[in-house]
Amino acid sequence: MPKVLDGTAIAAAIKQEVAEEVRALAARGIRPGLAAVLVGHVPASEIYVRSKVQTCADLGLYSDLITPPDTVTTEEMLDLVAALNARDDIDGILIQLPLPKQVDTKALLDAVLPAKDVDGFHPVNAGRLQAGRPALAPCTPAGVIEILKRSHIPISGAHAVVVGRSDIVGKPAAMLLLHENATVTICHSKTRDLGEVTRQADILVAAIGRPGFIAPEMVKPGATVIDVGINRITTREEFDRFFAGNEKREAAFLKRGSTLVGDVHPKAFELSGAYTPVPGGVGPLTIAMLMASTVRAAKMRRGL
Ligand code: NDP
Repeated sequence: MPKVLDGTAIAAAIKQEVAEEVRALAARGIRPGLAAVLVGHVPASEIYVRSKVQTCADLGLYSDLITPPDTVTTEEMLDLVAALNARDDIDGILIQLPLPKQVDTKALLDAVLPAKDVDGFHPVNAGRLQAGRPALAPCTPAGVIEILKRSHIPISGAHAVVVGRSDIVGKPAAMLLLHENATVTICHSKTRDLGEVTRQADILVAAIGRPGFIAPEMVKPGATVIDVGINRITTREEFDRFFAGNEKREAAFLKRGSTLVGDVHPKAFELSGAYTPVPGGVGPLTIAMLMASTVRAAKMRRGL
């Protein structure tokens, strides 16, 4: 039987450690602060951001939720970021994506002070990460490494195959795995004979954004499979394709009218040695790592 890597439990342990660090900093008169910028009314973004703000409160961090209207301009957003860059009570700035079409997302992410870039999206932090210097790393890939390490999955010397090369997940995940001494292969939509490559993976990281894309025959038996994908499925046909016969899932699907599936087909998990489920795998780590990143930014900014 494959081992289920319980992201919810790992995230809870990290949050507890963050809360302890926040208490230790409070004793020195320091309270790490996160500014969360949520533009307009994108339901998924609202859920994510409220959950991030709530987690700040739970762990003792200060947070400021800023909610510009969806008519906001790039110039207004740049002014907002400049003000947050200058505020001493703010250690981390989070701009929830996606932004409305009229806002220049890249210009905005580049305007965040690298020292406050707790999402690790600024090119300076991407460069530092690549150069192996202290950097604020993107939260989801950092969470992938925490899951592997805390589950005692050997990374050094392992062949890690990352499917996906986005700046937010795939590339930084590959870089972090390389720093942990994995032999890393990065795959993408132009990779020839993808299954041939993924079958060589001791650690397979799927960050594609296509429901159940990694089929059972693409996984080496016994491999560790990390499924970063979060895809909502709403049709009976899709449900049956992934979860036919899974009564617990079916009850939840019928109740809510949707369920989540990762980028890995659930049948592929059965062959693995260990895997992260969806939901309850990589997802919960993202917020925990954001909190850890904010505390780290607070300490780095003060030279601690
Ligand atoms: P992007 O769309 O930015 O990147 C997807 C990557 O997958 C691209 O590099 C693309 O290749 C590659 N890809 C697409 N189709 C194929 C294919 N047929 N074969 C091989 N590679 C392919 O997505 P993100 O990186 O932002 O997100 C990936 C997934 O992770 C999504 O499901 C997203 O919801 C989830 N996610 C989860 C988070 C969490 O908290 N757990 C946080 C962030 C994302 P190419 O570059 O050639 O186009």
